[in-house]
Amino acid sequence: MSFISSLSGKSIVVFGAGVTGAPTIEFLRSKDAKTILIDEKLTGTGIFNDLSKLDLSSVDFAVVSPGWKVDNPLILELKKAGISIISEIDLAWRVKQELKPQQKWLALTGTNGKTTAVQMTEAMLVADGHNAIACGNIGLTAIEAVVNTDAEFLILELSSFQLEWSAEAKFISVAILNIAEDHIDWHGSFDNYAKAKFKITNNAEYLILNALDSAIVQRAKNLTHPIIWFSLETPKPHQIGLVENLIVDRAFVSDEAEALFELSDINPAVPHNVLNAMAAAGLARSVGSKAESIAQALRSFKLDHHRLEVVAERDGVIWIDDSKATNPHAAMAALNSQMKSIWIAGGLAKGATMDELVKNCSSRIKAAILIGSDAPIIAKALEDGAPEIPIHQIKEYSNSLDLMKKVVGLAKELAQSGDTVLLAPACASMDQFKNYAERGQLFSEAVKGYLNE
Ligand code: ADP
Repeated sequence: MSFISSLSGKSIVVFGAGVTGAPTIEFLRSKDAKTILIDEKLTGTGIFNDLSKLDLSSVDFAVVSPGWKVDNPLILELKKAGISIISEIDLAWRVKQELKPQQKWLALTGTNGKTTAVQMTEAMLVADGHNAIACGNIGLTAIEAVVNTDAEFLILELSSFQLEWSAEAKFISVAILNIAEDHIDWHGSFDNYAKAKFKITNNAEYLILNALDSAIVQRAKNLTHPIIWFSLETPKPHQIGLVENLIVDRAFVSDEAEALFELSDINPAVPHNVLNAMAAAGLARSVGSKAESIAQALRSFKLDHHRLEVVAERDGVIWIDDSKATNPHAAMAALNSQMKSIWIAGGLAKGATMDELVKNCSSRIKAAILIGSDAPIIAKALEDGAPEIPIHQIKEYSNSLDLMKKVVGLAKELAQSGDTVLLAPACASMDQFKNYAERGQLFSEAVKGYLNE
């Protein structure tokens, strides 16, 4: 019996009523399954906050949204009752095999740059004449993309949470951009987090990996499949790399090598973004995209909001919103992309440490303006590693906009021609803002307000 028709009449628990849970339920109900929605935080008709009112003996299986810990007591209770739990990605994979057997899946993960790189891959495949969509942790969920689109290619952005739970989906190629400290509070340790990321390599024909990332290089030693490495160095056979200003493919070529695009095709052509473009090009080349299509896509590609977004330039000072830098690794990339910054940072560090950032970037920081709950963690790292950097902490404010106005007012006093004022907080935002987008938006509003005065 087909998996899809077997859903009719089944009782299926769905963990999580958010962006993944809602379309999962919609799909399952459309196949006449009975769904039981469990969410610890949301309340509403038909949402259970615990399992006490459920008859577990009647449950056939469960689908879990990303974000649920493997050792959550409700999950453990279900497992103890012998009920199998699959991820939304694996559910979508089962459905895809029946509904869209020709559809090809590519996937990418990393601590930072995932959204950018999957959007680049999508643009490259579209420029090459395909119907391709980036989905998963961005845009449509996997089940929506399978059921509601005619895409030939899905480019799945997968977070460590999604990977932790997934086991069945198979990919033509997968890429890992980087692995650095993030979500340590969720995974328990860096090693668990890195292991979850590496699960992406289990079911793929081609592995496209960043040779400049030591956490990836070290863990790749245990892999048995062939690897296509990318880096900013001259590529050897089976690699993608840089020769002067050209990005050169020596992996997906019939001849020795092929130039794919130039550095000037990437905007901005800062090192981390060049690596994003290389990973995206690797995925696109693994399914036969032409160099011209890849270059053309990059030339018209624009980073999404709150990623190195220049919000103003005045009197020789550049004001940049990189609010999406929610961990030290992203903030490090942002700081290293500018000569000298008034660095605005702080928020929720999620268990990450800031010492490496200070060690790597101290020469790029002229002064630090710190906000949020974990400002003291950053202040301590600066005091220990770079005591010469002046630190300003903003503790008193009436609301989020007022906070950003104070930040911007101070930055305006500190910045001189040639400096960048860089919002790259190295932390999550939820202690003071709704999310990173609101933090960036209020920064941008405050900057524009001040400069127009
Ligand atoms: P993700 O989806 O992984 O969060 P984004 O593309 O949204 O990735 O970027 C998140 C943050 O990481 C932004 O601050 C961005 O400037 C920064 N970033 C993007 N690519 C990289 C990279 N390759 N290495 C480090 N930081 C990066």
